Amino acid sequence: MTRASWYWRARVAGAYLAARLRPLPTLTDRSCNVCGYEGPFGPGGKGMRNEARCPRCRSVERDRLFKLWLDSAPQELENKDVLHFAPERGLMQLIRPLVRRYRGADIAPGRADLVLNIEQIALAPASVDAVICAHVLEHVDDRRALAELFRILVPGGLAVISVPIIEGWATSYENPAVVSPKERALHFGQWDHIRYYGADLRARIGAAGFCLSTFTASPAEVVRHGLIRGDTLFLARKPN
Ligand SMILES: [Zn+2]
Repeated sequence: MTRASWYWRARVAGAYLAARLRPLPTLTDRSCNVCGYEGPFGPGGKGMRNEARCPRCRSVERDRLFKLWLDSAPQELENKDVLHFAPERGLMQLIRPLVRRYRGADIAPGRADLVLNIEQIALAPASVDAVICAHVLEHVDDRRALAELFRILVPGGLAVISVPIIEGWATSYENPAVVSPKERALHFGQWDHIRYYGADLRARIGAAGFCLSTFTASPAEVVRHGLIRGDTLFLARKPN
C-alpha cells in the first residue's frame, strides 16, 4: 500500500471516530404502527440509520411502511396464498398471521420454505394469490423475474414490490462494465446490486402486463412512524 493510501485511510478512520464520539442527535418521540410502542426509535439498518428501529418489536422503516399499507388494504393478503421472496423477518411476522398459506422463497438453500429462482420459478401458472418482493429486483434480471411473477399469479393477483429508486432519473442506471462487487457497491449502492432504478421501473412493471398503482406514506405518517420520505410500495396487479 502506498504512503498516500495510508494517509487517506488514517484520515477516514479519524473522521469515523470523530463522528462516533459526537453527541447523538436529539431523538424524537415516534409511534410504532407495528407494535404500538410510543417513544424514541434507535439506530438500525444498513449504515445504522438514526431512529430506524423500534426498540420493542425491532421493526425498521420498511416494515412500518408495509404495515401502513396493509392496514389500508388488509383484504389484499387476508386468507390469501402468499409467496414471499427473500423473506425478511419483519415482513414475515406481519404477513404470516393474516394469510391462508405463507411460503418464503429464496434462491439459496436453507433460508426459506422453498428454494426458488425468481427468474425461473418452479411453480405452476396462476397458482399464487400474492407475491411480496421487497428489495429483490435490483439483484436479478428483472424482465425475466417480472414475467415469472406475472405467470404464477392468479388473475387479479397482486405483487407488492419495493426497490431502491431515484424517481428523478428517467432511466434506471445499468452499466455492463460494472461487474466486480467493489464496483457494484460504488455504482449501485450494494455489492450484489446490478442496477439502480429510475422512474422507468413503472414502465418495466407495465411491460410485464401488470396494472400498477403505488403506496407512499403521507408527510404526517412519515413523521409519526419514523419512515423514509418518499419510500414507495409498487403494487402490480395482474388483470382479471
Ligand atoms: Zn414496534
